[in-house]
Amino acid sequence: MGLLIEGKEMQGVKDGRCHYCMNEEKELFHQFYHHGFEKEVSYCRSCIRMTYSSTETFYDLLELPPVYEEADYQLDFELTDQQQYASRAIVETVIEGGRKLLHAVTGAGKTEMILEGIKVARQRGQNVALVSPRVDVVKELYLRMNEYFRTDIDVLYQGQTLQFNSTFVISTVQQLVKYQNHFGLVIVDEVDAFPLPMDKRLRQTLERAATKDAALVYLTATPSKELQREMKEVTVVLPARYHRRPLPVPSYKYLSKRQLMKGGLSPYLKRQPATYLLVFFNNISDMAQAADVYRDFQPVTVYAADALRHEKVEAIRAGQHAIIFTTTILERGFTMANLDVYVIGAESYTAECLVQMAGRVDRKFIPYEGTVRFFHDGVSREMQAAVQEIRKMNIDAKKRGWID
Ligand SMILES: [Zn+2]
Repeated sequence: MGLLIEGKEMQGVKDGRCHYCMNEEKELFHQFYHHGFEKEVSYCRSCIRMTYSSTETFYDLLELPPVYEEADYQLDFELTDQQQYASRAIVETVIEGGRKLLHAVTGAGKTEMILEGIKVARQRGQNVALVSPRVDVVKELYLRMNEYFRTDIDVLYQGQTLQFNSTFVISTVQQLVKYQNHFGLVIVDEVDAFPLPMDKRLRQTLERAATKDAALVYLTATPSKELQREMKEVTVVLPARYHRRPLPVPSYKYLSKRQLMKGGLSPYLKRQPATYLLVFFNNISDMAQAADVYRDFQPVTVYAADALRHEKVEAIRAGQHAIIFTTTILERGFTMANLDVYVIGAESYTAECLVQMAGRVDRKFIPYEGTVRFFHDGVSREMQAAVQEIRKMNIDAKKRGWID
């Protein structure tokens, strides 16, 4: 159980390997002649934002004794039947160890499902890591966990330092390189957001940071085919949304690019007051061109590298734009009331992506019969797979009595 700190036992870079972050890629080491040491020094560029690991720097493993605590949490509402079912599955995994994949539809309320598992782990003295590949998810999880738990939580992403004793850490996966054999419960949120196929070193990082008998829980709405296959035996499917309504099923509509640029989308852009429309494009130039074609509808455009992205997303959240043209899923946690979703060129997306986009609709507690439309130039297998998956989840949820 421990944390890597600067020390003298373990050489940072040795035999072409960084012992801090496990990097072995030659081109990620940098050599230079050090005048003080009067010799060549090699340092690792892969973890340079976290530490300075080199042939001349050393680390120790700081032993952290187990800490037991009550770790009670405050929840102002009762979990749904499905959430309770998932929560029990996680607690079981915490106690028995091993891996589990929670395949929960968008809007299932997965954050609440993990609270009991975290509490039980902490009572047993197991350290908890709640990780995501994405910094924005880490920040959001930290805010929410701080509301639920009255316990010391460390948050780690670029530039953040440890405040407490690492018993409960919310972090990007990369930052877990600081730990060895330390966490008895690791929960990976949005595992699908990993670079695919999941980077070997991130996986090694997770495994090294976890104890030998740790519980590893993966959460995702859209597991890749590889992940589904690999974890088939340990998958828990959670097909229902917390508000007990089915997922909106997308419909198809033929629209060629030529039609699109000649105004073919116009009949679909007429809006009811106080409703919002998210239109996804698969590239910026089409989006910009379409924004010009449909300028009478006053769409706002936003894309991943947009310098004004944050301001625009704020304005969108505040309801200042009825029609939003975008190339990105915005924040994954992006939810808005009274939202409809169109996907332009739907045939160019993966099924996972289509499910995520469709999953933006009807997320709030107050019902909204939203529309999801896949505009296409020929229906693809991935589109069919997405619709099939959504239908299947609805049928499963109904069968289990988890939706009305
Ligand atoms: Zn390194």
